[in-house]
Amino acid sequence: MANAQAVQEDTTAKIIALLNQVDPNDWSLPWHCPGNVFGTNGAFTPQNPLSGTRYSGANWIILALTSGAFGPYNGGDTYPSGRYATYRQWKKAGYQVRRGESGTPVIFYKEVERQKPAPPGKDEVYRMLRTFTVFAAEQVDGTELPVEDHVIEGSPHERAEAFILATGAETRWGGKAACCRHSIGDAGISSAIEMPMRENFTTYQRFYSTWLHELVHWTKYPTGRSSWLEANFKELDERYAFEELVAELGAAMLSAHLQVANDPLPENAQYVSAWLSRLNDDSTYIFKAAARAQAAISHLIKLVDAAPAAERSVA
Ligand SMILES: [Zn+2]
Repeated sequence: MANAQAVQEDTTAKIIALLNQVDPNDWSLPWHCPGNVFGTNGAFTPQNPLSGTRYSGANWIILALTSGAFGPYNGGDTYPSGRYATYRQWKKAGYQVRRGESGTPVIFYKEVERQKPAPPGKDEVYRMLRTFTVFAAEQVDGTELPVEDHVIEGSPHERAEAFILATGAETRWGGKAACCRHSIGDAGISSAIEMPMRENFTTYQRFYSTWLHELVHWTKYPTGRSSWLEANFKELDERYAFEELVAELGAAMLSAHLQVANDPLPENAQYVSAWLSRLNDDSTYIFKAAARAQAAISHLIKLVDAAPAAERSVA
């Protein structure tokens, strides 16, 4: 079993290799999933066809790399089905992983009870990063592959529109550039998205991808948490690059979830060199960003699920 640190280092190296290939003339980032070969509208939604689990957060990134959904890096295999299960799960279901195939280690957090009393302010249980190995459907011999697609209704644009509105995020229309503003008031921090009018966007895909990107920024400050603002704004530049990576990954994951094409504004790629320098120094950077992006999405999905039915009719 691969250790978690090796998985982080390997994933980071692959992301670095891909970011080094980004063409400044078109700024298409790896997670914009060009090629549209993955599911509807290029949405990459890796899942376990046997347990129904959807791989999310850092595992979404790890499996996108293995599947080839982020584009080729040196030595990459491609498994476009996006269906992954463990050796034992495949075997139990009557499939056989082919001899000589090597699997992909993915991560999970294992809760471990402390042997000694917890230090002040810490829980008795802590989480440790562990790995397990999965194999793609393409690496398995068997008959019919169980394919259970993530079926959702409506057009991609209707889905994106309904989802964003149902979160309750405030959007102010007519600004010059898309952004999300956080301001301190009596009730703590409030956040609002600013978007140029939709007719200023060249395509619907670009319009919704940009709006989803800002929606991820919008989750940064839950109402009333003013202390976050001071803490976060101390290291402004550093934080901006990190927040942009979170918004970028979050928008990509959310686009996959909603099955809408991910084609944000090219300006979002201006942080590539900042990301590269952080990734080179810290193999946990992309994992932290993925975890934060996944938390943002879970929060947004919860808001949408809690919205009155009329507001989430097609989400
Ligand atoms: Zn942004």
